[in-house]
Amino acid sequence: RAKETGRNRVERFERRLAEALLVRQTQEQDVRSGLAKGWFELTIQPIVRLATGRMVGGEALLRLHHPTRGLVMPAEFIPVAEETGLIEELGRLVLREAARIIPALVAAARNPDFFVSVNLSGGQVNRDLPNLLSELLETGLPGPSNLVLEIMETALLEDADEVNEILSEISRLGIRFALDDFGTGYSSLNYVDRFPVSMIKVDRSFTRSIGQDGEQNRRTRALMRTTVTLGRELGLPIVAEGIERVEERDRMLELGVDLGQGYLFARPMPARDFLELLAASAGYRTNDPDRSAPPD
Ligand code: C2E
Ligand code: MG
Ligand code: MG
Ligand code: MG
Repeated sequence: RAKETGRNRVERFERRLAEALLVRQTQEQDVRSGLAKGWFELTIQPIVRLATGRMVGGEALLRLHHPTRGLVMPAEFIPVAEETGLIEELGRLVLREAARIIPALVAAARNPDFFVSVNLSGGQVNRDLPNLLSELLETGLPGPSNLVLEIMETALLEDADEVNEILSEISRLGIRFALDDFGTGYSSLNYVDRFPVSMIKVDRSFTRSIGQDGEQNRRTRALMRTTVTLGRELGLPIVAEGIERVEERDRMLELGVDLGQGYLFARPMPARDFLELLAASAGYRTNDPDRSAPPD
């Protein structure tokens, strides 16, 4: 009997494994089909100057519209794309799409330094990336200040020398980097020192904690003050991610954080809607209840 139970257990395990494999294969196929059939869409979420509420840029965030499964989020398809190597093609698509709309956004914002930031996975940081970026600069990007590349600390871990060289080459084109989800990885400070970073995006877990009271909040405030000082000393603007509530915005502003992003201002929206929002007010109109009208 014990033997039989054991065999059942093995069979159950094998069945689960087969199911998981099938899910994975379906997800991979979805990314492939999405690339081939144009199911991916670029959405953009505003990044605002906290003191004025004015949009200074936006982050490009990818969506997959599946004909039967509906909306698929990056948390599902980005890891699949990374593991299968499809991230290279997907990354090129995002950069090309961003570059295509940037000229209109810069014009609508009436701000020559208006930027779109694009997320980079480690697998995209290879020898071809500087070439693609110089091509984009030659064929339509108004200037290098209009594109920012967001990179996570984890992406910098592998082969640091090679990555550093490629990032330096991109830096020489004038394109800037933002350190994404700052504070969630380890040795964040080490990366600020070693890589050509121009902007720090503080992870939304800090924003959440800043908006709450208690001991955790006291510690987070201390960390945020240090980060703001670091930003000032090095001339790097700080962006607070995931601002949902007025209190979170106000406390970040008090701490001296320059820029913010989050549902309080706007959710990620189709690039066309983002362009309309910008054009309607040169970048002043968001959900922020205090600062939704252009200051005259
Ligand atoms: P991320 O780069 O840290 O992007 C911020 C995420 O926070 C986005 O999730 C955004 O929709 C969400 N967010 C913004 N404001 C708020 C808020 O107020 N509250 C809450 N709860 N969430 C907020 P999303 O779009 O699901 O993207 C998740 C992650 O997927 C991104 O994190 C990024 O790491 C990755 N990703 C998205 N698009 C791309 C892409 O084109 N390429 C690469 N390599 N990665 C991407
Ligand atoms: Mg990001
Ligand atoms: Mg982030
Ligand atoms: Mg993130």
